[in-house]
Amino acid sequence: MKQITLFLSLFAFALSVTAQPVFTKADTLRGSLNENRDWFDIQKYTIEVAPNIETKTIQAVVLWDAKTINKSNLIQIDLQEPLIIDKVIMISDHLKKMDTLDFTRDGNTALAKPKTLNKIGENFQLVISYHGTPREAIRPPWDGGWIWKKDANGNPWVSVACQGLGASVWYPCKDLQSDEPDNGAIIKITLPKKQNLIAIANGKKQWDENLNSDTQHFTWQVTNPINNYNIIPYIGDYIGWSDTYKGLKGNLDIHYWALRQDSAKARNQFTQVPQMIKAFEYWFGPYPFYEDGFQMIQSPHLGMEHQSAIAYGNKFANGYLGRDLSGSGWGLKWDFIIVHESGHEWFANNITTKDIADMWVHEGFTNYSETLFTEFYYGKEAGNEYSIGSRRTIKNDRPIIGHYGVNEEGSGDMYAKAGSMIHNIRHAINNDSLFRSILIGLNKDFYHQTVTTQQVENYISIKSGINFSKVFDQYLRTIQIPTFAYSYDAKEKILTYQWKTCVNGFNMPLHFTYLGTQFDFLPTDYQPQKRLIKVDHFDASAFGETIRHQYYVQIGLEQ
Ligand SMILES: [Zn+2]
Repeated sequence: MKQITLFLSLFAFALSVTAQPVFTKADTLRGSLNENRDWFDIQKYTIEVAPNIETKTIQAVVLWDAKTINKSNLIQIDLQEPLIIDKVIMISDHLKKMDTLDFTRDGNTALAKPKTLNKIGENFQLVISYHGTPREAIRPPWDGGWIWKKDANGNPWVSVACQGLGASVWYPCKDLQSDEPDNGAIIKITLPKKQNLIAIANGKKQWDENLNSDTQHFTWQVTNPINNYNIIPYIGDYIGWSDTYKGLKGNLDIHYWALRQDSAKARNQFTQVPQMIKAFEYWFGPYPFYEDGFQMIQSPHLGMEHQSAIAYGNKFANGYLGRDLSGSGWGLKWDFIIVHESGHEWFANNITTKDIADMWVHEGFTNYSETLFTEFYYGKEAGNEYSIGSRRTIKNDRPIIGHYGVNEEGSGDMYAKAGSMIHNIRHAINNDSLFRSILIGLNKDFYHQTVTTQQVENYISIKSGINFSKVFDQYLRTIQIPTFAYSYDAKEKILTYQWKTCVNGFNMPLHFTYLGTQFDFLPTDYQPQKRLIKVDHFDASAFGETIRHQYYVQIGLEQ
C-alpha cells in the first residue's frame, strides 16, 4: 500500500537528509512496551460503536479482556485525540469487583490507576466509554482515520483505514503490534434503520438485533488473533454473495461484498479470489484463518489487508489502478489488490512483526507473493521477469529496517527491495522445493505469532543450511547494493571475481547457467578468486547480465 508514499517519502527524505530523526515522548509511549503496558496481555476486544454519519461522530464502548502477566502497574490506554474518554471501569475476575478508575490524559494516551492489585495469572476487564469526532482520513489508505464517503447513488459509504497511524485513531487499545488479542474481537455496529445500510466487519456475522424499531445492530466476530489495525467496519449499500472453497484445511467460507451498483463487475473480478487462494496455499500453506472465513469487501479506498475482511478498491481492473508496477506486462494479468492484500493474510496477519520497524516481513514477502502468483499461473520465467521489473521502484534512500520502540517504519524499499532480496535468497538456496518448504514452514512454525526480524532471518538460515546473516545485513540494514566485481583475461581464459560495496564478509552464493555451463560460487569463495573459464566465445558483459537476471546485485566489469 505504499507505492504512492514512496514519492512523498522522497520529499520527506530531501528535508531530513541532514538531520537524524527526532523522536518524541509520544513516539516512545506509542512504540515501546513500557511498564504500564507490559504487565497485561490482551485476550479480546469487544467494540460497540454507533457512528453518526451526518455529524461524522461516534459514540462507543470498548471492552478489553486481559490477563495479568506481570506485577500490575498503571494501565496505558491508547486513544487518539480528539476522541474523548468518558469513563474507565475495571472488573477484576478474582474480586468480582467493579471499580471506576481515575485516569489522566496525555495527548493520545491515557493512564488509568487500578484500585486493586491484579494477581499474576488472573484476568480482568476494562470497559472504556468514549465519544467524539474521530480524525478523518484525507488520503486513505496512506493516511488514516474515518472515511465518510458517498457512493455514486448518494448513499453513505463509510469505513476506516489506520495502518501505521494505528487503531487508536478510532478505538482505545494497546496500540502495539506485539500484543494481538489472542481470542480475536467482536465488532458491533449500530445504525439507524431508516438509512437501510449494511455494516460488515472482520470474521463471521453473528447476529442482527432489532432492539427497537429505529436502530439495527450488526455483530461480527473474529476468533483468531488479529492486528489492531485490521479490525475495521465497512458500512454501505452492500450486496453480498457466498462461495465455498475446498482448500488444504477443508471447506473455506468465502463472502464477497460490493456496492449494489458495482456488484456485476465485482462478481466478474472476484473470480480471481479462489485462484489467489489456490496459488498461495501452494506456496505458503493453508490460509491461516479458516475458522473466520475469508471476505473480499469493496472499500472506499484502494485497499488494505484487513484480516478475513480484505478491503478492495482497485476499480475491478487488473494491475494497480490499471498500471503494471513491474513494467514487465505480467502485472496486468491479475488484480494487484486481490493478490497483494490477500498475500498479507500469510505475511502480516498470520506472521506479524512485534515492531513496525521490521515491517519488511509483511511487505517484502507479500511483494514476493506477487512474483510467486505470477509464476504459479504463467511459469517461472514470467515470475522472474516480474521480479526484475519490480526493481525499478527501489529507491535505496534509507535502510529497510526502521528505528525500534518509536513506531517508525523503515524505507518504502521494504516492498520491492526486500522482495528482491527474497528472490536472491531463493536462487542462492538453488532448491525450489526447499525454498517452498521454508515459506510453508514460516507460516506453520510462527502460526498466529508476533515475531522479530531476527527470528525470521535465523529461521531461513537454519532451514536452508546457509548462513544468510550478511545478506540480511546488506539488504535490510544498508543502502548499498553489493557489486559482483570481475574481470576476464581472454587470452588465459581466467575470470577473477569478488564482492565489493558490501558489508564485511558478504558471501551470497550465486548459482546460474551461462552458455550451458553451470556456475556455482559458494559462500567460501569470495576472497578475490581466479577461475579458469572453459566456455567458447565468453562475453564478459553478457556473463554479468546473466547474474543480474536472477540476482538483485550490481555488476562491475573491470578491465
Ligand atoms: Zn502491503
